[in-house]
Amino acid sequence: MDEEIKRLKKEKDAIILAHNYQIPEVQDIADFVGDSLELARVSKKVKERTIVLCGVKFMAETAKVISPEKTVLLPEIDAGCPLADMADKERVVKMKEKYPDGWVVSYVNTTVEVKAVSDVCCTSGNAEKVVRNVPAKRVIFLPDKNLCWYVKKRVPEKDIICWDGYCFVHRQFTVEDVKKARQLYPFAEIIVHPECEPEVQELADGIYSTSGMLKRAKESKAKEFIIGTEEGLLHRLKRENPEKEFYSLGSARHCYNMKKTTIESVKKALEESRYEIVIPDEVIEKARKAIERMIEYV
Ligand code: SF4
Repeated sequence: MDEEIKRLKKEKDAIILAHNYQIPEVQDIADFVGDSLELARVSKKVKERTIVLCGVKFMAETAKVISPEKTVLLPEIDAGCPLADMADKERVVKMKEKYPDGWVVSYVNTTVEVKAVSDVCCTSGNAEKVVRNVPAKRVIFLPDKNLCWYVKKRVPEKDIICWDGYCFVHRQFTVEDVKKARQLYPFAEIIVHPECEPEVQELADGIYSTSGMLKRAKESKAKEFIIGTEEGLLHRLKRENPEKEFYSLGSARHCYNMKKTTIESVKKALEESRYEIVIPDEVIEKARKAIERMIEYV
């Protein structure tokens, strides 16, 4: 299968990019593995004409916005993100009308239509910086309320209105999970994602985006880590730090959308050029402005 995929990549002038939450087999055949921001950055630089994005739909849309001249394929068309679907364009426009002095700051986990009506985008790694630097006192932050709570705490000078969305995967980690992990692994460092509930964030040793977790695992003197994010990240953590131990916080938490992509679906995507992401030019243009502003404010 690996050989066949290599041959197809060459034939189609394609590159495979995979998110950190993908199944290990898909991570292993990818040319690059990273978080959503890293995938977006790489999409801009690649020389291949086709990008096979192994992740969820908003990630493939972001790659298309950044590189509209490329063909972007999502191997599983119904790999969506329930968090992204919690914010829709119509409600965002209404919020903007209600608070005309507010800036809409959208997490990358939003649909391209929502990005197109947002003032600026952010990631979990730079949300705090973006919110601090936007030229408005009032901010409408969407869609994740836990990430919003995290930002609010660190940027008290802004008047931040949180959207009511959440990631069902990160929401499952509990205070009980943290307490049990402390008992079982008293020397381990507990690091969690800012999409986790506030009570879980408060009990953890550190709060990091997925790329922040990878960096922390390398730099920390700890030998054991408890990871509070989607379990797919453990594969990369273990591969990059073979001398350290990594455990999921509580039971391993799966994002079923991230697990839909398989080696077979990647092969099919290459063979049949499916499923191509198509976005109207004017939506691409507007969404790109919000993404470019993010770079400006960090
Ligand atoms: S882990 Fe959460 S935020 Fe990420 S794709 Fe799955 S549902 Fe969306």
